[in-house]
Amino acid sequence: MNSIDRLLRPSLRGRRPYGAPQLDVSVRLNTNENSYPLPQPVADAVVRAVAEAVPHLNRYPDRDAVELRTELADYLGHDLTIDQVWAANGSNEILQQLLQAFGGPGRVALGFTPSYSMHPILAAATGTDWRDGGRDEDFTVTAEHVVAQIERHKPDVVFLCSPNNPTGTALDPAVVTAAVEHGDALVVVDEAYAEFARAGTVGALELLPGRLRLVVTRTMSKAFGLAGARLGYLAADPQVVDAVQLVRLPYHLSTLTQVTAVAALRHRKALLANVTVIRHERDRLVRELSDLGLLVAPSDANFVLFGGLADSAAVWQSLVDRGVLIRDVGIDGWLRVTAGTPGENDAFLSALATVLKSA
Ligand code: PMP
Repeated sequence: MNSIDRLLRPSLRGRRPYGAPQLDVSVRLNTNENSYPLPQPVADAVVRAVAEAVPHLNRYPDRDAVELRTELADYLGHDLTIDQVWAANGSNEILQQLLQAFGGPGRVALGFTPSYSMHPILAAATGTDWRDGGRDEDFTVTAEHVVAQIERHKPDVVFLCSPNNPTGTALDPAVVTAAVEHGDALVVVDEAYAEFARAGTVGALELLPGRLRLVVTRTMSKAFGLAGARLGYLAADPQVVDAVQLVRLPYHLSTLTQVTAVAALRHRKALLANVTVIRHERDRLVRELSDLGLLVAPSDANFVLFGGLADSAAVWQSLVDRGVLIRDVGIDGWLRVTAGTPGENDAFLSALATVLKSA
């Protein structure tokens, strides 16, 4: 074997890196980003904050990101305090730190796929054994199912995702509490899309008090429209926050990231104003995709999974050929589209209608 594979950890051999195609097309609705650029006043505030910070880049950043964590705790509400909040470069890094601290060789992580594809990838990268509990045909998971899978696999870490990527479905809080109450795992609820949930959907932050083994992860990449800044965070018991300090790299969060996120959080009203528009557009996509005769998973997120396609790979390619990039998430017959601006969604819907007619 004349390749570097020989030296690679056996569990990584033959694997492919995570990566949605980044194609140069006019309508990009494939990575659940926020299609709206930062409003100018917010962009100006970020630029001012960065300009003030730049002369001091000779110094390392605040290792504990105190100002940022204070702002994040304030944003989350629920009486959370800085010692219950931790931040990193995207929620991907948060998830990685959790697995570094609570997973690892000889340990088991349980998830319920189809779900966020980075969960098993991060498990592999941290040497954590991955088990898949699966989902019902309609992509839901019940408390009974989760408990049965926990009893079967005896995980050290359980990944729940609500609203779930790629299906869009939010979890009943009873599923989260059942997961915490059965077994002895750290239960991580990945809430990257929480802000897009429909009215009446209850998130996991409310469940935190008194639950030492519950962690909620969030991100500024989606609702805040700051995917390029890379800022994710968690809320949990202070002991969990202390535990991730054991694995985080010193000064992992650059000064520029910290000041950008703080400025954005201080302008959150303006930044989050687009969430309402995106929710409406998401509901419109659900309606119009149903009107096209397709199967549509109910969505609490900024994307919609739709199915009933005879050849989903061919539909995906035909859309790319028409300048519209959406996501083939590897579920046969289904594709996922991000809710973009009204214009982007119109372009997608009309391209899809044409493609389906000619199929
Ligand atoms: N969790 C879920 C469910 C996601 O879909 C994503 C992004 N696609 C992430 C976490 C990671 O986001 P980020 O690292 O940008 O915070």
